[in-house]
Order: sequence, then structure tokens, then C-alpha cells
Amino acid sequence: MGFSKGGFDMEPTAGQRAALGMICDTFLPGDGRRLPSATELGAVETIFQILGRNPREAERKQLATLLGLWDSRLTGLLTGNGPRKFSTLSQEQREKALLRLGDSGLAPVRAIFQALKGAALLAYNITPGPTGVNPLWEQIGYPAPSGPLPGAPAPALAPLRFTESTTLTCDVVIVGSGAGGGTAAAALAEAGLDVVVLERGNYYDDRDFGAGELAGLTTLYAPGPAASAEGQITLVAGSCLGGGTVVNWSTSLPTPDAVRREWADLGATQFAGSEYGDALELVRKRLSVNDSRSPLSARDSVLDRGARALGWDMDVLPRNVSDACDAGTECGRCGYGCRLGAKQSVTKTWLSDAAAHGARLVVDANVRSIEVKNGRAEAVSARTSDGVEITVRARAVVVAAGAIQTPALLRRSGLRNKNIGKHLRLHPAAAVFGVFEEQITPWEGAMQARISREHADLDGKGYGVIYETGPTHPGLGTGFMNWRGAAAHRATMADFAKSAAVGIITRDRDSGTVEIDKTGEPIVKYTLSDYDANHLHTGIVGAAKILEAAGAKRIFSGHQAGVDFEPGVRGSIQEFDAAARTAGYGPGRCAMGALHIMGSARMGGSPELSATDPDGATWDVPNIVVADGSSFPTAPGVNPMVSIEAIAHMNATRLAARLR
Ligand SMILES: Cc1cc2nc3c(=O)[nH]c(=O)nc-3n(C[C@H](O)[C@H](O)[C@H](O)COP(=O)(O)OP(=O)(O)OC[C@H]3O[C@@H](n4cnc5c(N)ncnc54)[C@H](O)[C@@H]3O)c2cc1C
Repeated sequence: MGFSKGGFDMEPTAGQRAALGMICDTFLPGDGRRLPSATELGAVETIFQILGRNPREAERKQLATLLGLWDSRLTGLLTGNGPRKFSTLSQEQREKALLRLGDSGLAPVRAIFQALKGAALLAYNITPGPTGVNPLWEQIGYPAPSGPLPGAPAPALAPLRFTESTTLTCDVVIVGSGAGGGTAAAALAEAGLDVVVLERGNYYDDRDFGAGELAGLTTLYAPGPAASAEGQITLVAGSCLGGGTVVNWSTSLPTPDAVRREWADLGATQFAGSEYGDALELVRKRLSVNDSRSPLSARDSVLDRGARALGWDMDVLPRNVSDACDAGTECGRCGYGCRLGAKQSVTKTWLSDAAAHGARLVVDANVRSIEVKNGRAEAVSARTSDGVEITVRARAVVVAAGAIQTPALLRRSGLRNKNIGKHLRLHPAAAVFGVFEEQITPWEGAMQARISREHADLDGKGYGVIYETGPTHPGLGTGFMNWRGAAAHRATMADFAKSAAVGIITRDRDSGTVEIDKTGEPIVKYTLSDYDANHLHTGIVGAAKILEAAGAKRIFSGHQAGVDFEPGVRGSIQEFDAAARTAGYGPGRCAMGALHIMGSARMGGSPELSATDPDGATWDVPNIVVADGSSFPTAPGVNPMVSIEAIAHMNATRLAARLR
């Protein structure tokens, strides 16, 4: 298979390209008039562009094999068409063939369908196409990329980028510059330590933003793993200087008190006390968290109105934005970077503080391993995208590469504690869509401004779901939809501007794992437990109730089986509930995403229970400290950024005290 020539580049064969073209054109044949087919639009090239970034060779090979076999009689047999090649089938037969994969009783077969569906729908909706303006965008009134704001300021930071092999020496080297790494960098540099931050991604600032979903996804977001190994959950994480805080939705909630007590009970007792409380407060202040820039968007009005009509809990979300935030049209685009410079990401705050105190920030530096000798970390080795080696010698290493990459790096570096890579929490999220008479333009408005905690405690132990909305662009939106045929999908997209999605975020009691493959790349294994699935189901029905109470005309979930109703016209909430339960929550049964990735190198009181001690130092190597979402002892049940930054500040402050 010619998929991995030249590093991450993909050079598919003509046969593979043709197979993917046929698949995509089955999902998205166009309407024969205004809307082009996927291949006419250039969506297949987009898929190869996205997949080409995936660092996991095994995944690229799997796809290459699948595409190589696609137009064979074997696939015909598998999809119920007898020994007939896919290319000989009509559009209708092809659609049925794909749906048979999606409805299969075999989870791995459904996973194939989900991967193909996800790639095709995403690529179609984000590809500008030959004219630069995707006709679908014109149809639904979605604006083409605006480009940077005229007069956007010059980038504020000046990170280093190495083109020749380099060795640096410092007190502390930090791997990753996101919520955790960025905050740790400031705490350590302000304590007078010489800090180097190594970031795998690149630096983008205000004048780089506004380039649209495709450019945003392929520059600011992590290249993979794109989903859990079982194909159940899409994984979404930032990957640039500032990590997830550059692309996230600015919701800034503190760790709930009950969660703090639960975390303290696992052995890091300071979570219940003033040390952590002070760190949360410090973060709140540095990020300018406020609730005066949280007006109701049309989509949050739906959540607000529906929940209130039901007599349910409703609250305003605090956000980390300055007064420059328009909390309107601009704000809705901020998931691909804030053009106004209003979002107080770590690049605008902690990294800028760190740089002011002499920290060196290095971009395009992918850390492959930590060198450990006699139980002490001595250096880390990184590689640029061009293969240039960077070595940083340091007295201590802070690992803050995010909860997928952190355990992978620790394992690649030979650390053995059995909890490294365990206890992974994903806050599995799903969405229920409501179609309204009026325009919602769900991609606009303050990114998230309302929360309902009505079902946050479904078991009396603090586990359940919260309801929030999010800026819903055509690419991101399809990640939470099913596909039951080309015409049905076209009709759903035609209503996109009138649709509002209520998101359901599950506080997962049960967990998954991060392991590494032969090449050291992470594999995420996560299957939603029945316990957590029950809560998600309550949330899906709850979201439908909110939408019904808010006046939606049609309501549908992301269940692949197709679960929908039209209040007062066809079906009922009771039937929706029953159909959703029957459709189920196993892999491939219901579209789910994870934007909150946590817990995979957790803090705690003993090596039996946790990967790191109450200082965040690994049990194996005391001068390796973890300071990111991996550190969470359990899932917090609220959006995690503020908690991550508080933990990073606390762990870095403790490390600074030890090094002084
Ligand atoms: C679209 C989206 C919206 C979100 N909205 C919110 C929200 O509104 N509120 C909220 O609280 N949370 C939100 N989150 C979640 C939040 O942003 C993340 O939980 C948080 O950023 C994670 O912090 P982290 O430090 O663990 O990792 P990250 O912020 O992901 O940072 C890790 C960094 O490490 C780098 N890295 C990885 N591997 C290596 C390596 N080997 N070498 C060098 N560098 C490496 C990555 O490129 C990345 O930049 C959102 C997330 C997403 C994706």
C-alpha cells in the first residue's frame, strides 16, 4: 500500500483514490443542480490531507487496505450485495450497502462505517471547493472564511524554531504548552527558574485566524488519534502554542466542591484545602473570568427557554474573555482562533508572563522521550517536522502534553507504574438537534453562555450529565449527526441554519486507557460503560425535552438507527425515549465526541492508586512532574480548563520550591 511514503504524507494509489471517491459520492452525491458531489467538490483530497497528518502508521495502513479491497466481490458479499463489485451498483444499492455496515451487529464493522461517514461528511462540509465558496455554505447561509481582521496586531510572542540540531540547558523543560504547560511555565519562570517550553505545534496569533474550518482543523488541532480504537468516540484536542486554550470555547468553571473532596480522598489532600482553592482563584483572576460577556445567542436562548419552561436548573456560564469579545458573530468563530484577541488563552496570559520572565518557547518540537538515568530525568529529546533533533538538558521535566500524549511519552520513556495510561476520562458528549421555524445561525453567538445542571447528579454520587450548547459549524455539526441516506442528509443540512443542538456532557464514572503501539504512538481504548450510557441516555431524552419545550418542530439525535420525532405531528417524547434506548450506545450506535480528555496519569496518595504523587511527581521518577488534564484523579463533571490550570500552577509551584 503506498500510503506512508515520505513520513506523514499519503500517496494513495489510483485504485484507493477511486474507492474513496465512490464511497464519498455515495454519502454525498450532490443534488444534480446546485450541490456538487463530494468528488466534484474536492472532498476526497481534503480527506487525504487530514489523514496524511495522522502519525499512526497502523491506521493509515488499515485504511489503505480497506480502500484497496473496497471494489472487490468480497465487499459486495459483506454489504449484502452478493459477489458484486461496489462500482457495479446503483446509487440506491450503494447507499443500502453503506447503511448495512452502519447497522451491522458487529461493532468493528460499524466502526468502519463511522470512520468513513465521519471523514466524508466532515470533508464535504469544510472543503471550500473549486470556487472557494462551497455551494452548501451558500445554500445554508454559512459565511465563507473571512480571513484575518484588518489591522490585527503583529504576533505578541517570538517562539524559537530550530532548523539545525540543537542542545539547550535549563532548570525545567516543559513538554506541551496548553492549559497545563502554559500555566506551569509562568509559575516556574516567575519563581526565577530558567524554563524551556517544547511545543509540537506551531504558533498562531490573531492575524492568522479567520481562515475557516478546514484551515483551523489542520493547523490548530491535533492530527490524531482521531477516535477511540473501538470507533465509539471522536477525540478533539488542540495542538499549537497554547494547546486547547487557543481553540476552546472559553467556559471557565471552577472544580465543584464535591469533586475537590473526592480528589482529596484519593490522597492528594490539598485539593480540599486552601492551596488548591487559592490556585483556582489565581487562575480565575489571570484569565479575567467574568460573566458580563455571556449574552444569549439564538442557540443558548433555546437551551435557556426550554429548560426554564420545564422548571429546570439554568445558569450563566463565566468566560475567560476581555471586553473586546463581541460575544456575537466573531465569537462563534473562536473555536478556530479568536480574531479579536479577546479570548484569554494561555498564549495571551501565562505564556506571555513566562516569556516576560525569560522562558524560552520552542515550537515544532515533538518530544519523543525523556532520558532517565539512575532514577532521575536528565534530558528530553524532540524532533522537528523536518527531523531536526533537539535535546534539552534540565534539572526537572514537566510533562503537559495533554491526557493522550502525556501517558504515551511516559511509557515511551520507560516509566512503569501501572496507573500510567489508566483511568482515562472523556466526558463523552452527544447532541440532540432541534429544527425551528426561525433562523438560529448556530455558528454565531457567544460560544457557550448557559448551562443546565438539572441532571448533574443522577445517582446521588455526583455522576450524571450537564447541558450546554456550542458554536455549531457545518463541519463540527456533522460529527454529532447520523447518516441514513443521501437525500435525508441533504434535507437535514438544508435546515442547518434553523437548527440548534443541545449538547449533553457525561461525567463518566468509568474509564478507558491509553496504550502505545510499536512505534510509541498512543492508542485510546474506551467503551462507554452501561452505567455511564444510562446517564447519557437520560441526557439525550432531557435534551429532547428541552428542545420540545423551546418549540422545535423536528427533533433528532445522533443515533445511527435514526431516532427523531415532530412534536404534535409525528411521534412523541415517549417514543423518542424508547427508540433511543433500543438504538443503544455501543460503538457506532450513537455519534459521540470527547473535547475533555483527562485522568490518564492521575494524582493520588499511593502508587497502587495513581501515576503521580500529591506533588504531581511520577512515582517512578521524582523529577518528572505531570501538570495537565492527565492529573485529574477522576472526571470533574464540568469543563476542565480552569481546573487544569489550577493543578498546573499548584504542581509547578511545589516543584519550584523543591528546586530552590
Ligand atoms: C473545541 C474545544 C472546546 C473546548 N471548550 C472548553 C471550554 O469552553 N472550557 C473548558 O474548560 N475546556 C474546554 N475544552 C477543553 C480544554 O481546552 C482542554 O481540556 C485543555 O486545553 C487540556 O489542557 P492540557 O494541558 O491537558 O492539554 P492541551 O491544552 O491539549 O495541551 C497539550 C499540548 O501539548 C502538545 N503536545 C502533545 N504532545 C507533544 C509532544 N510529544 N511534544 C511536544 N508537545 C506536545 C500539544 O500540541 C498541545 O499543544 C475544549 C476543548 C476543545 C478541543
